[in-house]
Amino acid sequence: MTTQPLVVAEKVRKSYGRNDVLKGIDLEVRRGEVVCVIGPSGSGKSTFLRCINHLERIQSGRLWVDGSLVGYRQVGDRLHELSEREVSRQRAEIGMVFQDFNLFSHYTALENVMVGPLLVRGEPREAVRARATELLRRVGLGDKLGAYPRRLSGGQQQRVAIARALAMRPKLMLFDEPTSALDPELVGEVLDVMRDLADEGLTMIVVTHEVGFAREVGDTLVFMDGGVVVESGPPADVINNPRQDRTKAFLSKVL
Ligand code: ADP
Ligand code: MG
Repeated sequence: MTTQPLVVAEKVRKSYGRNDVLKGIDLEVRRGEVVCVIGPSGSGKSTFLRCINHLERIQSGRLWVDGSLVGYRQVGDRLHELSEREVSRQRAEIGMVFQDFNLFSHYTALENVMVGPLLVRGEPREAVRARATELLRRVGLGDKLGAYPRRLSGGQQQRVAIARALAMRPKLMLFDEPTSALDPELVGEVLDVMRDLADEGLTMIVVTHEVGFAREVGDTLVFMDGGVVVESGPPADVINNPRQDRTKAFLSKVL
């Protein structure tokens, strides 16, 4: 049986001008694994997620998702960037959920979830509508199909955003601080949905400050600082027995 990881990052480097943001990230994510990423602001967490679906070019290293090099084609030992069309095809298989939801304000919840499969995939409207309805039920919004984002709470909007990402049947989901913009009483409803997805076996990389979620739902906890992975392992080990001083210092501030 092949057990090729779903995501492999090898010595990934990314800089903006002279600012070296990622200084050689190595990471593997198995199929069905939930990897939570914590770390101080500015440590490169969002940049790393953005590299995984090629919203950013990398300076060196390699990134594979499901065996395919992300954003590039290798010819001999040289990399050639893929066309916009090829990149879009890769990106359509990776769902991304952002801190600030990014819903289309002039579309209802249902339309927000339908738009990807309709426009990107060209799937038939009735099938798309049925699946979008089912996905909104799954995130607890079966009674909000016709609601516009401004009539929804932050927690509801984020659940629509998750349903919208799922509508593309992603093989991987990336979450970038999905609960950071929410009022505290709305965090739980979003984490509950994410926990269900993890239980169903979806592969997820979750950048979060919710250490409790990471401990409970994560298979692996990665601590990033200064553009490197400082330490990673089973969440309980990293949280209870951090080996590195930087990890200890960070955890003592967030716990
Ligand atoms: P985190 O998500 O861990 O807070 P980021 O990945 O957002 O960190 O940012 C890491 C560093 O990269 C920061 O120093 C930030 O200023 C810089 N950075 C992020 N995006 C850009 C960009 N588009 N242009 C220039 N610098 C950027
Ligand atoms: Mg960030």
